Amino acid sequence: MSSRYARPRGTFDILPEQSHRWRYVEECFIDVAARFGLRRIVTPIFERADLFERSVGDTSDIVEKEMYVFSDRKGRRFALRPEGTAPVVRAYVENNLHLSQGTARLCYSGPMFRYDRPQKGRYRQFYQYGIEVIGSDHPAIDAEVIGVATLLLQELGLTGWRLEINSVGSPATGDAYEQALLDYFSPHEAQLCADCRNRLVKNPRRLLDCKVQGCRDLAVDAPVMLNYLDDDDRAHFAQVQEHLTRMSVPFVVNPRIVRGLDYYTGTAFEIIDDRLGAQSTLIGGGRYNGLVGQLGGKDRPGVGWAGGFERLLLALDEEGIAAGEPLRPVGYIVALGEQAAAVTPSLAHRLRTAGISVEFDPDKTSMKAQMKAADKCAAHVALIVGDDELARGVVALRDLATGEQQNLAEADIIARLKTYKR
Ligand code: AMP
Repeated sequence: MSSRYARPRGTFDILPEQSHRWRYVEECFIDVAARFGLRRIVTPIFERADLFERSVGDTSDIVEKEMYVFSDRKGRRFALRPEGTAPVVRAYVENNLHLSQGTARLCYSGPMFRYDRPQKGRYRQFYQYGIEVIGSDHPAIDAEVIGVATLLLQELGLTGWRLEINSVGSPATGDAYEQALLDYFSPHEAQLCADCRNRLVKNPRRLLDCKVQGCRDLAVDAPVMLNYLDDDDRAHFAQVQEHLTRMSVPFVVNPRIVRGLDYYTGTAFEIIDDRLGAQSTLIGGGRYNGLVGQLGGKDRPGVGWAGGFERLLLALDEEGIAAGEPLRPVGYIVALGEQAAAVTPSLAHRLRTAGISVEFDPDKTSMKAQMKAADKCAAHVALIVGDDELARGVVALRDLATGEQQNLAEADIIARLKTYKR
C-alpha cells in the first residue's frame, strides 16, 4: 500500500524483521574495534557546511553535487554530514584529544547523507561505520588500521572480497604528478566531459575518478602516482606492505586507486566485492596527514576508513550468511479464563523484572489463538495458566520444541526459564 507521506527517495525503513541484522553487524564492528583499543566517538549529524568544503574539497563530487546544505533560522550554512572523517577530526581538534591520548583510536557509526542517484548499494541516507587513528605516521599503524577492516569481514564470515592498496603520495610530491596528468590529458581536452575539462584546471587528479565512460577510457593509460612517490613515501608504502604480508592479510597493489576526497595522503585502500555490481566498494580509506592541521589543530597524521552497513548486508546475503538471529522471547504466557487473564500482566512483569523475556496478548483469549501466537514469535516455552493451575499456585510450562510439559511453582519457573537462551 502506498502511503500518502512516502519516505524520501533514496532512503529506506529498517523494519523489525530486518533490524536484528543491523544490530548484529554493528555489534560485530564494535567488538572487533574494541580489540584494537578503538573507542567510540559520536558527533552531530549536521556540521558547518564549510567543514566539508575545506576538508573533503570543494571540487569533490561530494561537495560539488551531493551535499545536503541548508541554512538555519539565523542564516548559518550547515550540511547533513556526507562522511565521518571531517567531523571526527573536527571533534578531535575542538576537544583537544591530542592532550589526553597519545594516539587517538576512534570508531564511529551512524547515518550519512549524499544526494546521488539511488541504486543498489547507493542511498541518500546510508549508515556508515568507520575508524580513525590520529597521532602516528608509522606504517605499522596503516597496516593495523587495514587489519581492523579485514578482520571484521573475516569474522562476519565473508570471503568474496579483495583488498587493493595504493599510495597517493604527499602534497609535496604531488606537483610533479599533477603536471604529468596535465601533460597527459591536455591534448585530449576535447574528448573530456564538461566536468573533467573543469577538473583539468582546478584539480587534475579528479579526472582519474570520473565515472563517464569516455574519460574512464582515457584514464586507463594516464600516469600513476606510484611512479612519482619520493623516497620517504616509497619506503613508507613498502613497509605497510611488509606488515600486511607478515599479518597474512592478502592484498594487491592497484596504482589506479584514487579516493574521491581531497584530504588523502600516502596509503589509500579499498576493499572490493565484485558481486555487488556497480557499487562494489565495501570499505574505503587511507591516510590524511594534513587534515588535522588544516582544520586548525596541531599537525598530526591520521589514517582511517569507512564502510557502509548496507553493502555489508548485501555481501552477507550474497554469501548466504544469516547475520544474527531475530529476537525471540523465552516465554509466552497463555492465559485461560478471566482469573488467569487478570494475573497475567503482573506475572509477566515479575518474570521480566527477573531478567526473562516474555510476551502475552490480552486481546487473545482462546488456547488455540494464544498457542499460535507463541509459535509465531518463536517462544521457547509456553507458560500455561488456567484456573486449575492458579488454584494450585503453579504454572504449566510447555517446551515448544519437545512438547514436554511440567507444572512448576513460580520460584522454580524463573530458574528454569533462565536455562533458555534468548
Ligand atoms: P567514501 O566515504 O565515499 O569513501 O565511502 C566509504 C564507504 O561508504 C563505501 O565503500 C560504501 O560502503 C559506503 N558508501 C558511500 N556512499 C554510499 C551511499 N551513497 N550509499 C551507501 N553506501 C555508501
